[in-house]
Amino acid sequence: MRNLLIVGLSLLVLNSWANLPDPVKEFYKNAPQVNGRALDASYQQQAQIAMNYYPELSGKKIEFVRKDLKTTMASLPKLDFLFRKKENRRYQIFIDTKVKASKGLLLSEVPFNAQVGIIGHELGHVVDYENKSAVGILLTGVGYLFHPFRKKLERKVDEITVAHGLGYQVHEFSKYVLNDPHVSAKYKKYKRKIYYKPKQLSVLMQGYEIY
Ligand SMILES: [Zn+2]
Repeated sequence: MRNLLIVGLSLLVLNSWANLPDPVKEFYKNAPQVNGRALDASYQQQAQIAMNYYPELSGKKIEFVRKDLKTTMASLPKLDFLFRKKENRRYQIFIDTKVKASKGLLLSEVPFNAQVGIIGHELGHVVDYENKSAVGILLTGVGYLFHPFRKKLERKVDEITVAHGLGYQVHEFSKYVLNDPHVSAKYKKYKRKIYYKPKQLSVLMQGYEIY
């Protein structure tokens, strides 16, 4: 069964980077809600917080979809991107429903603040897609099959996330995954190989005045 959750990113009509919210070290579940819309109740607040840091995605059609995945979350344009104008593209952010053989984690298993981080990372992928043509997206899909390309892309997306002000949250997600005793050594090794490690994220954050 899948839950289709459509989120209208119309909360903010801000376009300037100068208008990004300041980074916050830690978000808590009882943080005030921002005009919640149709996202599933359990992740709504987390997604709203993350979306506030991506004002340029305001008005974009982004669906949150529950699906059995090989990773915690993933983002893709809907397949009709090939036939649509860039401004009419639709995106899907998938949330894993089942963890196989201690591989990875479910979104529900990580702390609230880290949930904001990984959702922020997925929105970073959308920003990356937004900067690409349809052919560019196809090439990204092919390149993703190869680890060197995947590593470059995932790091670029972490950089986008940090630049948008969600550095503390991505850092917490990374740290959590690498330290969780339920996550297999193999998966941790993969994470360390492809993604920025917590220390590298800290160094990256130091390069931005906002932190
Ligand atoms: Zn990613």
